[in-house]
This record gives sequence, structure tokens and C-alpha cells, in this order.
Amino acid sequence: MESSVEEKIHRKLELISKMEGEINAFVEIYENEALQSAKEIDKKIKEGKAGPLAGIVIGIKNNICIKGKTLTCGSEMLKKHHATYDATVVEKLKAADAIIIGSLNMDEFACGSDGTFSKIKITKNPHDLSRVPGGSSSGSGAAAGAGFCDATLGSDTGGSVRCPAAFCNAYGFKPTYGMVSRYGLSDMAMTLDQIGIIAKDKEVMKKVFKTISGTDKKDQTTQLADAKRIRKGEIKTIGVPKEFFESIDSRIEKSVKAKIRQLEKRYEVTEISIPTLRYTVPIYQLLMTAELSSALQRYDGMRYGYPADRNEELYTAFAKVREAGFGKEIKRRILIGTYITMKEFKDAWYTKALSAREVMKKEFGEVMKKVDALAGPAMPTGPWKFGERMNPLEMYAADTLTIAANLTGLPAIVEPLSNSIDDGAIQYYGRHFEDELLFNVE
Ligand code: GLN
Repeated sequence: MESSVEEKIHRKLELISKMEGEINAFVEIYENEALQSAKEIDKKIKEGKAGPLAGIVIGIKNNICIKGKTLTCGSEMLKKHHATYDATVVEKLKAADAIIIGSLNMDEFACGSDGTFSKIKITKNPHDLSRVPGGSSSGSGAAAGAGFCDATLGSDTGGSVRCPAAFCNAYGFKPTYGMVSRYGLSDMAMTLDQIGIIAKDKEVMKKVFKTISGTDKKDQTTQLADAKRIRKGEIKTIGVPKEFFESIDSRIEKSVKAKIRQLEKRYEVTEISIPTLRYTVPIYQLLMTAELSSALQRYDGMRYGYPADRNEELYTAFAKVREAGFGKEIKRRILIGTYITMKEFKDAWYTKALSAREVMKKEFGEVMKKVDALAGPAMPTGPWKFGERMNPLEMYAADTLTIAANLTGLPAIVEPLSNSIDDGAIQYYGRHFEDELLFNVE
């Protein structure tokens, strides 16, 4: 046990300097600031004035603003961009005396499921360097899994917190939509994005969640967060949707089913069906690309992104910046999103996907009147080896079990099932605003 926060930070920095060269979790390490705040927090602890997260070491995905620090979003476009303010979550962490030790790598603009779309560096899985850490919060998964940080923040639009948590053997939590402020998070798809937490220790995760959640005047979607924050009650019934098991690896199926048999001793567990779960990927892909292509319009070299050539004609200048500044996957998604929202095609895809999302919400609403939570696997496979999944469709399919929580706005938590990353993780979905109840399911 460390006798002071300062000593703890020295230990963490030592571990990081030993292993980071191989893992590549960080975009930047704030060594001096971390040591400086550790000293201040040690003083506060002596005076009995320390905040609830005193000495908890946190890493932040590099699409969440930290004032004065680079905010790359894992991209070439923003490699030199500096945030001019703190995101609400960062403000809250600082006020609670957490120590922010660095910013973490990610897939470009949070698009990806394994970290290999980062334009900064390639993060590796701390438990097996030949395998991917999961994405898009690749650095957040790796840094929590490697013990560099007590907890990390990521963003989850379709599973980007839960996937790297499952792949790096840690807990991963996506709160109810509207429970945590998104102010200062760079949008990927704003009706789906939510800031989430990855940690090895569930108690630490709970404390971080208590700190970062709640109403924020700067984000309208958080209006209900305080009123609904502490829901009383407990989870007694769990539904297991059969669709969750339709295309998953046999080893994962075995370990998740073994865990469900244990749950049967404590909860009333029933098999259920949610037919729209078969369509999560197409619904998500249509809505996400539509929202993403709109969110990325601001990167034109004038408002954001590296400077456009002032001597060029305006649109040529914008096009050149976007051509050079975006990677292949981002361009693919912008093209799809722009195409499907063209006036002539809107009803063919975008509005259909919106209606399908409503049907899914209704189905979940019905089911969750009967059961308090859902259980199933987090990811269909364990982490793959680098170079194994080059086809984008295969990559998109990996999100099939996580996406529904984003489409419905429900909270979801993933929990590793053993010390082996090949056993996968179980995932629980809860009711809206019953986030805290989910932490108690074991
Ligand atoms: N893997 C998903 C995608 O590529 C989810 C991304 C996310 O949650 N940010 O779109």
C-alpha cells in the first residue's frame, strides 16, 4: 500500500514507463501535472479536506476536452488541435480530487471496434500484445487493463466502452442516455453517444459514476439526471434474449451460459425474445452514418482541422483538407451518411431506420415491464489478432450485442468472466435511470 498519493503516482508512472512502449495506450502523459496535483491532494488529505475521488488515477479518451491539452480524436485532422475548455466530466473529476494522468488513444473520431483505425498510434492488448485491445476506446481499455489507471473514461456510441473493457478484462459501463453530460465530448453521433467508464474494480467505477453523472445546464439531455439519479429497489428478475446467442463463439457461449446458471440461484431467470435484436447493425449503421457525416462537417480547415489554403477557391480548399485529413473509414462513413440523407433517398433508408429504432424501443419497453434486467454476452468473440479482421462488414458485425443499448438509451454494464480474455464477458442491460441497480448484479 502506498503511504501517499504522490507515492502512488510515482508507482503508476514507473509501471507506465516500463510497459507503455509496447502497449501504446496514451496520446499524452501528464507526468508533471499529475505529480503536482498529487502533492496538493496529499495536503488536502492531511487537512481533512480531500474530495471523494482523492488519489484515484484517471485517463481520458482523447475526444473529451481537457483545457489546454491536445484533442486529437485519434485523427490526422486534429493532431495539433488544443481544447480550450474542460468537458463537464473533467471539471467534475478535478473538483473531486481525481488525478488525470493522461489522454488515451482511440480509433479516428471514435469509429472502429479494435483500435486499428487510430491515426496516432496502434494500441495493443495488455494481456496479449499480438491481439487488439478493442475499440474505439482502445487506449481506455488498455490503460485500465494494464493497471496504468484506476479508471478510464471512454465514449460509447455503439459499444466503444464495453468492447475494449471486455477485450482487456475489465468492467465497462455505458450509462443511461442523459445521465452523464456530453458537454466537451466531440460528437460522433449525438443521439447515441454517452460517456462511459472502464475499471478493474467495480467499486471505483461506482464512485467515478457518482461523480460524473447528474444534471448539467450545458447539456439539455441531462435534465432528468438528478431527479432520477438514485433509483431505489433491486434487480430480481433477469431476461435472457435468445437472439443474443445466435452468432457467437462457442467458448464465449459456454462461459456466459455457465454464469447465467449461477445467476439462476439468486434471480428469477427466463428466456425471452426481442426480435429487433437481429437488426441492430443495419439500424445503427444507417442512423450513425447520417449523424456522423453531419457532425464531421465542421472539419473543413476553416472552423476546425488543419488550416485550409487561403489562396485556393473555397470549396476546393475545403475538399483538399478533408481529402488529406480524414482516413479511409471516415470517408466511407461520410459518403454513406451523406448519400442516405439526400432528399431523394431519405425515405428509403433514414426514416425507415428511425421507425425501426422506435419499434425496437417499444419491444424493449414491453420486455422490461416483465423483467428488471437483461443478460447475455458482451462481444461475440474474444479479441482477434492484428490483421485478422480487415473487412469492414466483419468489423461492424462485432458490435451486434452492444448497439441496442445505444439505440434504446438503456444503461449497460459488462463484466469479465475469468482471467482469460478468451472467456469473454457477460453484459447486463438495465432500465432507464436504473444505472446504480445494475452495479449490484453478481
Ligand atoms: N464500433 C462501433 C463503430 O465503429 C461503435 C463506435 C463507438 O461506440 N464509438 O461505429
